[in-house]
Amino acid sequence: MSALEQLGRNAQERPPGYAHRAGILFQTLPYAASNDVVDILDYLHKCGGVARSAQLLDAGFPRRELLRLTGLGTSQPRRGIFVLPECDKGLLAAVLSNGRLTCASAAGHYGLWLRKPPPQPHLACGHGHGSGFIRHRTVRFPGHPSLPVAAVEDVALHALGCLPPPASTALATSAIRLHGVPRELLASQLQADRSGSALRVLRELDVRAESIVEVDAQHLFRANGIAYDTQVFLPGIGRVDFLLSGFLIVEIDGFAFHSKRADMLRDRERNNAAATGGYAVLRYMPEHIWFDPSSVVREIRTVLAGDRRNLGR
Ligand SMILES: [Zn+2]
Repeated sequence: MSALEQLGRNAQERPPGYAHRAGILFQTLPYAASNDVVDILDYLHKCGGVARSAQLLDAGFPRRELLRLTGLGTSQPRRGIFVLPECDKGLLAAVLSNGRLTCASAAGHYGLWLRKPPPQPHLACGHGHGSGFIRHRTVRFPGHPSLPVAAVEDVALHALGCLPPPASTALATSAIRLHGVPRELLASQLQADRSGSALRVLRELDVRAESIVEVDAQHLFRANGIAYDTQVFLPGIGRVDFLLSGFLIVEIDGFAFHSKRADMLRDRERNNAAATGGYAVLRYMPEHIWFDPSSVVREIRTVLAGDRRNLGR
């Protein structure tokens, strides 16, 4: 049994005067003391379940509270590092390596688009010690104030230089779209570091994509030499995800399914307006783009090669 599992088991035992909340043991009496205890445990919780003693002291907790933490369900895998049994394992890896989560490993924290979590943590750390993680040495922006997580700008910059496209493209696109990271800022940082390949990815990036699957579809089209326009407004139909050769509409249907009758009606009207307007329509789910891309490319090529329309557009 690991130390963390052991602690998890210990936390299930409840001595008199203590209560469980969210798997953590809280002292219930006396009230004044219990307030202190709950505060430091709550704070540790907010830190993802792991913090260094220096951070706890900086947050205003007296040293005597830190000394009591180990009796309250936390462990100290290393001197001065306090860990709750249910702590975020990524954050723990970052603290133990004296680094910050970045690149693919910080995507979840910022809600950035990433399909697969990385097998190893990606950490930003200026030092050369430790192993078992992907190291990002260049840190350009101050990180998160209370969590061992790199700044979203650094997360995007690291991903651009580290992940293969389209993973790099999707992550950077979402940093720009969801967090307002200026594209020029990323470009200027990469220019200064002469990061040629990362700059190329940044230049190719199309921030009109509204989801990770659209980024993946763009990548699929580019890789197969299929020219496309994206987020095109067509009169009488509305905005479509992709328009190919001026007549083939390709729509990527998201995860949300049509539950309201009004949505279903609008969907049929759109579809019929496309057909009567002389457009061809192919619709895909994310799974088609991700797991059966060759069929998608084949179907698109078949429709484009048909070229049976002469719309005069
Ligand atoms: Zn990385």
